[in-house]
Amino acid sequence: MPAPRDYSRPEPLTPEIRRRVNRADRNDTVPAGLSMAEAPPGVVIERVAPDSPAARAGLAPGEVLLRLNGEPIRDTLDFYFHGAARRLVADVRLADGTEVARRIVKQSPEEHAGLELRQFTTQQCGCNCVFCFVHQLPDSMRKSLYIKDEDYRLSFMQGSYITGITLKDADLERIARQRLSPLYISVHAVDETLRCWLLGIRKARPVAELLAFFKRHRIQIHTQIVLCPGHNDGEQLDATLAMLLGNYPTVQSVAIVPLGMTRWREGLPDLDPVTPDYARRFIATMTPRLREVIDRHGEPLVLLADEWYLIAGRRTPSYTRWPDLPQLENGVGMVYHFYRDFASARRLLRTHRLDRPWRVGAVTSTLSVPVLERLVAACRDEANIEVVPLPTVNTVFGDTIHVTGLLCGKDLRATIAANPGFDQYLLPGNCLRKYDERFLDDMTLEQVRGTADARIDPVLGGARDFVETILAGAGVAEHHVVAEHAFLRPHWSNS
Ligand code: SF4
Repeated sequence: MPAPRDYSRPEPLTPEIRRRVNRADRNDTVPAGLSMAEAPPGVVIERVAPDSPAARAGLAPGEVLLRLNGEPIRDTLDFYFHGAARRLVADVRLADGTEVARRIVKQSPEEHAGLELRQFTTQQCGCNCVFCFVHQLPDSMRKSLYIKDEDYRLSFMQGSYITGITLKDADLERIARQRLSPLYISVHAVDETLRCWLLGIRKARPVAELLAFFKRHRIQIHTQIVLCPGHNDGEQLDATLAMLLGNYPTVQSVAIVPLGMTRWREGLPDLDPVTPDYARRFIATMTPRLREVIDRHGEPLVLLADEWYLIAGRRTPSYTRWPDLPQLENGVGMVYHFYRDFASARRLLRTHRLDRPWRVGAVTSTLSVPVLERLVAACRDEANIEVVPLPTVNTVFGDTIHVTGLLCGKDLRATIAANPGFDQYLLPGNCLRKYDERFLDDMTLEQVRGTADARIDPVLGGARDFVETILAGAGVAEHHVVAEHAFLRPHWSNS
């Protein structure tokens, strides 16, 4: 058990941690103290689709869209909210500063006006959470990784978590008016003193007040608790779950994720890690409670991230009755989701049995080796393909980091170099930034590919994609490219 803490004051940040966080470019975020709902109107038009309603109305790239039908346009959300009418009057500021009104006429309200607006700048988070991933980064990462942001607009649009600390009254009013639902809220604890300590701040709008507001305005939320052993577990967790479940259906789900600690915590509060023993005890305590919740509500409102089971060395749960499980990107049900198309993967293997040896090294995180067991067996039994999981220690963040999404190019290269002789290597695609094919340490996929004289392919989807990637590598089947990675974010990265 950790020594008793004084939760009444936030833990001070050392100059080293401040310097680390200050590596982020200030221009990349909006200060936490501002209200996004009170920002002045005006968004730069990036593109106008040819022959679109906007093009016919005479709008052009570089002009600034100020209002639609008299309503201020502060960002893309406003644009979608106010741009749904068939007839729009767009107030636009031209390059010389003059304002003109342009009439946009669409065939139907659903037709897109044909405008692409500049992406908005996200807001700083305003917290210093004791478990913040940014505080625990090594000093050598790309600048953008040091950004600590939270933005309710992105929470609505992309499902990213916010604490709610930056929400001003005007933002809440906007959330209610524009029906920005569901949102994703990090709660961590309902005891306000403990919550503030976890968030590293002196004062916050109480969770109870936020919940009451969301309830009144029928805004639904998904919530998460980052569990720090000895702090927000035990009775604190009981109280937090009681309050959140008492606010169903406003609260649609509660994901409990284990604290993640890198080896770069020097100068940060001394926290106890989630050990295999702790994870086993936690699962044992929680399992009957999870069942009770299902019995009472008919669905798993409280969910444990897969990482709990992997750390404990247990099988991850099956969620067959709930195919649209929320919080997949938070690491809940990822293994289940990965295997959802396993039957199809096995059928594909059966029809492509190889008559020559094909050896595949599947690079993965240390805890994920058991996850690949069923696929390894299917590849061997159905298609004569040898798949060998290659566990990779995360030396960049530390061996306490188990998730595949945080593996870096440096460690992937080391694993491949230490395990030569395979015909093909597979990489977990969720550690690769898709749009420029870079890993977190800025190494490119091409650089990793230079490690071996063999195919090196990322797997971006589930079991079927895993198999297709292998069969395409062996030259016996086509690989249908996956458009979107199912698990884009490492689940404990922020907020
Ligand atoms: S965990 Fe999220 S909310 Fe907390 S300090 Fe880090 S970025 Fe901010």
